[in-house]
Amino acid sequence: MSTRTLVIGGGLSGLLAARRHLRAGHRVVLLEATGSVGGAIAQASLPGAGGLSVNIGAEAYSIGAGAVDALVTELGLEEQVVAPREGLGSRVVSSAGVHRAPGGSLLGIPGRPLAADARAVLGTAGALRASLERFLPARVGTRPGATVAEVVGRRLGRKVLERLVAPVVGGVHSADPATLEFAAASPALSRGLAEHGSLLVAVRRIRGRSAGSAQSAGTRVHALSPTMALLPQTLQAQFLAAGGILRTGVEVVAVDRDGAPGRDRAGWTVRTSRQEELTADRLVLACPPDTARELLQEAVPEIAQAIPQAPSAALRLVALVLDAPALDAFPSGTGALVAPGTAGIRGKALTHGSAKWEHVQQALREALPTARSPHLLRLSYGRPGEQLPARDEIVDLALADASRILGVPLSPAQLLASEVIDWDRAMRQPQPGHRAALDTLTELLAEQPSLELLGSWRAGTGIDAIVRAEQSLAEDTALSEGTPS
Ligand SMILES: Cc1cc2nc3c(=O)[nH]c(=O)nc-3n(C[C@H](O)[C@H](O)[C@H](O)COP(=O)(O)OP(=O)(O)OC[C@H]3O[C@@H](n4cnc5c(N)ncnc54)[C@H](O)[C@@H]3O)c2cc1C
Repeated sequence: MSTRTLVIGGGLSGLLAARRHLRAGHRVVLLEATGSVGGAIAQASLPGAGGLSVNIGAEAYSIGAGAVDALVTELGLEEQVVAPREGLGSRVVSSAGVHRAPGGSLLGIPGRPLAADARAVLGTAGALRASLERFLPARVGTRPGATVAEVVGRRLGRKVLERLVAPVVGGVHSADPATLEFAAASPALSRGLAEHGSLLVAVRRIRGRSAGSAQSAGTRVHALSPTMALLPQTLQAQFLAAGGILRTGVEVVAVDRDGAPGRDRAGWTVRTSRQEELTADRLVLACPPDTARELLQEAVPEIAQAIPQAPSAALRLVALVLDAPALDAFPSGTGALVAPGTAGIRGKALTHGSAKWEHVQQALREALPTARSPHLLRLSYGRPGEQLPARDEIVDLALADASRILGVPLSPAQLLASEVIDWDRAMRQPQPGHRAALDTLTELLAEQPSLELLGSWRAGTGIDAIVRAEQSLAEDTALSEGTPS
């Protein structure tokens, strides 16, 4: 008889796991607490912009080694894949002003700090200091569990840390370099540093031929048109078509297991917010780490306690649709990341959606035929330890920040639509010791084959990291069960 798998959490991690278990011949029930699947890959429709749907969570995916492109092709979405507009680059805003983000960077670290684009941000002294990194002994700044600030600051100097790396860490990872574990922030760079004894060499190797070229950070991505929500929607549709059962609006509130604690006896019972009890042979938790810890506390305390603390960073996003012909020149390219402490700017990142993506510009023009030059901007707020700007003030603040970053005055009179979105639990900050804690957790989970724990807190932030983690799980399943993956 086929086994029954319960998957808790319908974000990307849960959807991919549900697909894998279904393919392995299991009966699968996917439970999602909110009204729809997708988690941090979500869209919202803007009434003030003709009902246009825009990304309010993830807006693109890293091309990386091609894992996500391969997945979307497999899902039949290759026609929907779009690349950013070429040649625009992005900007980095710091006490040094607004500059083009240096090409061939990783985590904000430029492969060639003496190149003109990096020198413009770092100054000559900062660039020279960074370029000396390859002469440092490999051990400098690299104790196990070292933070981004320790590794980058000690190896490349304060300027690289403050003006290039802190904007990326804050804007992309919603984290503080002083508390974010380096190995968790970029496993590839961490491995590269161990292998080559130099961060600069590691960046150049990983970035390959793009290092030092005009290719800017942020261009090694693809997206789906009309929005990234197409990915979870398609996974959902194919899951249902293949016989999977999806229940939305069902929060799992407790997990019990049959048999003696600590033994991997098949048999899990979950209780839901609707006072039901569901049983399963296999359990997949694809929810945030604190939820997983709480749910497993009674049933498998040794696993619950091994789940690393990865506090969430509260994030408030503002989407603005403006009628602004001055933005047709794409003054900040595809967008900008802002260094913490930059005078007069509170936002940490700005994406110029209609500059970065032609399909967005096209959709705006179709949705707003009477506007002269509709543009979409998205700004994000919320640095670790900082109070979020108030919801009723944030649109004005975003307009002021955008004006400074883009160097174009933007007024409330130009505003056609706006949306404020909160993400309280989606972005996780791996603390020092995170990687080691995950290794321990993996060892413990090996003794519990009927239990899986998934999510960006384990795989790494971002769609590419999740898809790659899922790929290796699918390969393992195929090997152990002899089924096609
Ligand atoms: C604003 C924002 C922008 C981002 N931008 C990008 C980007 O451009 N590119 C990129 O690659 N990545 C981006 N990311 C990161 C990426 O979106 C995430 O890493 C990824 O989507 C996380 O997927 P997940 O399945 O691990 O978790 P989630 O998406 O958080 O899904 C977890 C799911 O579990 C459900 N759940 C929780 N508790 C329970 C329960 N008790 N019972 C049932 N269900 C439960 C939740 O409702 C949720 O749907 C962004 C993230 C955010 C927040």
